[in-house]
Amino acid sequence: MPLFGRKRKDEPEFVAEPPAPLAEPPQVDENGLRSMADHRDYLLSQVEELPPFGQQLLDAVGLSLCEDIVTTISLPGFDNSAMDGYAVRAGDVAAASDHRPVTLPVVGEVAAGEAARHPLSPGTAMKIMTGAPLPEQADAVVPYESTDRGADDVRVYEPTSRGRHIRRTGEDVSAGELVLAAGDRLDPRRIGLLGAIGKDKVLVRPRPRVVVLATGSELVDPGLDLPSEQHIYDSNSFLLAAAAKAAGAQVFRVGLVGDDPDQVRQVISDQLIRADLLLTSGGVSQGDHDVVKQVMPDLGSCDFAQVAMQPGKPQGFGLIGDDRTPMIMVPGNPVSAFVSFETFVRPVIRKLMGATPYSRPVLRCRAAKTISGTFGRMNFARGVVTFDADGGYQVELAGGHGSHLIGDLSRANALVIIPREVEEIPAGHEVDVWLLDDDQ
Ligand code: AMP
Ligand code: MG
Repeated sequence: MPLFGRKRKDEPEFVAEPPAPLAEPPQVDENGLRSMADHRDYLLSQVEELPPFGQQLLDAVGLSLCEDIVTTISLPGFDNSAMDGYAVRAGDVAAASDHRPVTLPVVGEVAAGEAARHPLSPGTAMKIMTGAPLPEQADAVVPYESTDRGADDVRVYEPTSRGRHIRRTGEDVSAGELVLAAGDRLDPRRIGLLGAIGKDKVLVRPRPRVVVLATGSELVDPGLDLPSEQHIYDSNSFLLAAAAKAAGAQVFRVGLVGDDPDQVRQVISDQLIRADLLLTSGGVSQGDHDVVKQVMPDLGSCDFAQVAMQPGKPQGFGLIGDDRTPMIMVPGNPVSAFVSFETFVRPVIRKLMGATPYSRPVLRCRAAKTISGTFGRMNFARGVVTFDADGGYQVELAGGHGSHLIGDLSRANALVIIPREVEEIPAGHEVDVWLLDDDQ
């Protein structure tokens, strides 16, 4: 897979066409900032849904259906008993009571998976188990509990009515009915329905393969000793990989990469083979060691933007390699990385896998205390949403605004969205949040 500008020592000089440029990026404001929504929509416009493929039911859980499903069978498929008991003709036991039970001869037995050997003659009963087909001429089932459970003759202590304890053919689903439509998410209940109508495979969009890579020479893998006080453990690759997995992706976490341009270029190129989306953290700001930003032009077309949000202002995007694989580069501060994931990466993953809506639903909450914003930038503060005394939702901030505060992030269950033009949400006023624990 030759990449623009990529060359090994032993290869002759490789001159390739420069990569096709990206689509025209969105407008910026007077401060050179793009709005969060514009940037998100821009990224969404640059990626396409993955092509559908056939998948076994259990491998399709959580995926998005790419075909309409019309059932060829009805559910139930035949009239059957809802109880263990006796199939009867309701008229035969109309006079039954505790004091004057009606006694009927038991002329046979039918279990689930069997058929009655003959129709039910007047004045007789047939033992029947739950799910067993109703014998012809029977029109009700008397449950064991209303009888003496007799083997040769049965005493029936209660009257019944026609149709009682019978599950009718097609009362749930009729043959020819559209039961699921393209775009539906296959939750466990729908997987169950597919099984019930005899489908073992369905056409779905696959889980996007997301390769996650953290850059930074200061980073150390958890589980190892920190070599010096200047080193820190890598949290982002785990945070981003876990978030991508929760969003439905198949995730590959690549080991850490130092701030070395050759190494970064090489690792990214090597990972393209297994990626539907590459996700990197760190190295996209203005610093001298922001190597991801430096090497991207060698790898493909890219776009580095300043987005009017806090945290998560520097953002990078590219389409790289022969397949123009999308790559999203988020800043290295852990909270910035997470907010960038929620605002941009999660919608892109959802688009790749054909899941809608792309962004989380917004929930209106009452601010329990005053919440401050950052004028001119959309603020994503970390919040804890709880029920208030009236049963409504209220939200309080989980710690401060610093984008290094991963402890506070771990205590939050929501992102509080404070619009660009708002400096402060007074206590008692309403504010929008995204609940983070619902990954549908
Ligand atoms: P950068 O975006 O590379 O300039 O990094 C910004 C800040 O985030 C620096 O303080 C980094 O040490 C920190 N940081 C970068 N990557 C990670 C990571 N994978 N885990 C934890 N902190 C990180
Ligand atoms: Mg860095």
